Amino acid sequence: MVADAGNVVNQQNTGNEFIPLCVPEIKGNEWKYIKDCLDTNWVSSVGAYVDSFEHSVARYLDRRYAVACVNCTSALHIALLVSGVGINDEVIVPALTFIAPVNAVRYTGAYPVFIDVCDDIWQMDVNKLKDFLSRQCTYTDGSLFNNATKRKIKAIIPVHILGHPVDMSPIMEMARDYGLIVIEDAAESLGAEYKGKKVGAIADIACLSFNGNKIITTGGGGMIVTDDSKIAEKARYLTTQAKDDALEAIHSNIGYNYRLTNIQAAMGVAQMERLKEHIRAKRRMASYYSAALSAFVGLTVPREAEWAKSVFWLYTILFDTAKCKMSSRDILMILKEQGIETRPLWHTVYNLPPFKQCYSYKIETADRLYQQGLSLPSSVGITQQQQDKVIRAIKNALNN
Ligand SMILES: *Cc1c(COP(=O)(O)O)cnc(C)c1O
Repeated sequence: MVADAGNVVNQQNTGNEFIPLCVPEIKGNEWKYIKDCLDTNWVSSVGAYVDSFEHSVARYLDRRYAVACVNCTSALHIALLVSGVGINDEVIVPALTFIAPVNAVRYTGAYPVFIDVCDDIWQMDVNKLKDFLSRQCTYTDGSLFNNATKRKIKAIIPVHILGHPVDMSPIMEMARDYGLIVIEDAAESLGAEYKGKKVGAIADIACLSFNGNKIITTGGGGMIVTDDSKIAEKARYLTTQAKDDALEAIHSNIGYNYRLTNIQAAMGVAQMERLKEHIRAKRRMASYYSAALSAFVGLTVPREAEWAKSVFWLYTILFDTAKCKMSSRDILMILKEQGIETRPLWHTVYNLPPFKQCYSYKIETADRLYQQGLSLPSSVGITQQQQDKVIRAIKNALNN
């Protein structure tokens, strides 16, 4: 429920207002378009809003094709399948990421190879990637093999984490040199730019998420975007049960039921209309936090590379425990007591039980970021008064 203005003021006066980590912003034509679906009976996995949502995202990213999916995890699964990734292949992923792209690799029977993230922008470390490819792999007959596992490496998934782009040019170059497919995971970074180009518009294929906490939301949803008509066609076919002949129900491949519904797409169309405002709000939120927090000893605010425009999906800071005399988890608990929801970064995936046996290369930074990182309330609709409360709470915690 949306609290009315009087109510909010009241809560602030008593100091009890809950400030969530990241909640949807539903301020546009969502009701109108969803009602239209209900009024016309077009509620399921085909309909004008699905087409219109796909067109609107494709146009925004300057991509030729877009295929809506039930979520980004399924989009990644399909992107890997259409890239020819299968049993006993390997796919390169960053050591610090939400787990979805790593799980998607395993759905195909392939294995992840974990590459560290870099110290400054926390994204996949392209220098370490270069080292790994040139020193630990063998390229023969147009295929790349991991010397340690003897498996064939087929693809790289750069994950643009927390709204900031990965350094894509070196990755695209290495991929060309070694015959690898690149699948961008842009789930957290719709609208972010790399050297003036939108993320999701750079690699062969990209996947997006419209989960509730992302830059825009359809409740749940995802999308595959590409410029390759064959990839798009195959993705559409696999996400709709691989129908060779719908009437006779002929299926020559194993398909999936991964399509987005018209109701969800209707919400997506409305959210896309507001995307620019969402991005402006995210960037305003980030500069307000940074202005207040960057001077603190032991506290690191997010950096934006000079070639990058970040959308600051979750505004995340690092606490140096020795200098702050306090860990990120201590701060989390103190803020929680004051009704402020924060969250640590993701546990590094390479040492979680399902992935312990997988290959990882020189991981040094990812674990430190996991220990030190804390994401602050970052909703599109967060107010400066709410940010002030968060900032005050952090300052008080550090000063005591
Ligand atoms: C949220 C997220 C996903 C998964 O998105 P869903 O739509 O929830 O399946 C994938 N990758 C990253 C990096 C994410 O943050």
